[in-house]
Amino acid sequence: ARANAASAPITAGALADGTPVPLLANLGKPEGAAEAVALGAEGVGLFRTEFLFLSASSAPTVEQQRTSYEQLLRAFPGKKVVVRVLDAGADKPLPFLNDAHEENPALGLRGLRALRASEDILREQLTALAEADAATRRSPEGPADLWVMAPMVATVEETTYFTSLAKEYGIRTAGVMVEVPSSALLADRVLAHADFASIGTNDLTQYTLAADRLLGSVAGFQDPWHPAVLRLIREVGDAGRAHGKPVGICGEAAADPLLAVVLVGLGATSLSMAPSALADVRATLLQYTLDDARAIAEAALAADDAAAARDAALLATERGA
Ligand code: PEP
Ligand code: MG
Repeated sequence: ARANAASAPITAGALADGTPVPLLANLGKPEGAAEAVALGAEGVGLFRTEFLFLSASSAPTVEQQRTSYEQLLRAFPGKKVVVRVLDAGADKPLPFLNDAHEENPALGLRGLRALRASEDILREQLTALAEADAATRRSPEGPADLWVMAPMVATVEETTYFTSLAKEYGIRTAGVMVEVPSSALLADRVLAHADFASIGTNDLTQYTLAADRLLGSVAGFQDPWHPAVLRLIREVGDAGRAHGKPVGICGEAAADPLLAVVLVGLGATSLSMAPSALADVRATLLQYTLDDARAIAEAALAADDAAAARDAALLATERGA
């Protein structure tokens, strides 16, 4: 049975009632694509592009970027691939992007803010992505479905800035990461101007609890089970449903199988995670219907803190079973 299970094709992510929940991979380099496909990733929910920039003393050329993006897209013919434009800030200073010292880099010129201050870098990245997309459209395997999103979007104005710029370059599907509480609270307005939202639970937790995610002394606050974080995610889920637009999750939270059920109950339409987490999340989702997931999410939302939310969700799963 073990050998059969290993050779059987991996099923697509779904709930017990058949509701599809595409399970996607977070990738930091195109080289990770083969392993993600082998583990059943149905596409890429977050392709971090920092690797192209972080070890460089000058910005990578359009040509260098295009080669990498093409390699990624070719690994996922017919599949969704969500690429995030550069997410850098004063915590990892890039000589060609930011030179200012900041006391609080997480609250500074990072993500889309930094790209706007060096707009030529953003324009080059969009050019390379559009060129890679065009090149793979001519390939025999067929093209991937390229979506592009911006990190650290905090306002509606930033949303319209990014999505209209991306469209200028021929990017068909342009969205935003929701990882700052302001954009979660305004998700109904943000999603009026974006094709999709992807929730970055790592930063959303850091900014909601006001606790630096890299600082050990406040690590206890970095828990996406916190009901304050869950309520913000519900706002985004509700807005996605109202607008008929996808809401993905691409933070670490999606890799926690029970929390993945809660996230779907809150309105997430896809989950993206480290490929090694896909199997457990896939197996757990299959145990609950959408009604179950909503009831489990309600139980977590009503708790006072992260530990209580986790306990309440677990109890709700036992009640349902
Ligand atoms: C997040 O913040 O949850 C996220 C996915 O982005 P990163 O971890 O790269 O900041
Ligand atoms: Mg983030």
